[in-house]
Amino acid sequence: MLKLDLHVHMNEANDFEPLTEAIVQRLIEVVLKKGLDGIAVADHEGYDPDYPFNVRNIVEQKFDNAILIIPACEREVGLNHEVELYLSNDKMFRFLAHPGDPYYPGPVPINNVQGIEIKNAMHFANQKIALKAAEEHNLMLLKNSDAHHMEDIGRYYNEITLGELCARAIPRI
Ligand SMILES: [Zn+2]
Repeated sequence: MLKLDLHVHMNEANDFEPLTEAIVQRLIEVVLKKGLDGIAVADHEGYDPDYPFNVRNIVEQKFDNAILIIPACEREVGLNHEVELYLSNDKMFRFLAHPGDPYYPGPVPINNVQGIEIKNAMHFANQKIALKAAEEHNLMLLKNSDAHHMEDIGRYYNEITLGELCARAIPRI
């Protein structure tokens, strides 16, 4: 089992500063201090799409894979916010973020996602909606920080295996 926070806004948490080894080192320190094995770097669509992959490369090449980085992106799909996790072999695991958040009202269409947040430390997540959708659509229930500041990383996290994510993953579009 890995302790993973799958929804972290890393670029935004660093005020869009150019990525450096020092920033990644600080990230590693925070993640380890919180007792996590890794995070998904999931900034909003429209920012540098290479950023999460660059974070991972620096962790691998300069810090001996000290933590696991899953490159990701949070996208707006209609009124929904969906986070895409980019896994190996061009596979993707997609989950619905903070369902039923009053900021994003309206119906919660379940559109080819594999997971749904039941807890989000930043936004309200309607647990009833999450549980019902998870049961009806066989979705993985997730708890994430949605951190926009480094110190908020790990406020919620999941205890899962990469195998569980990969088993549900779909081809990346
Ligand atoms: Zn978010």
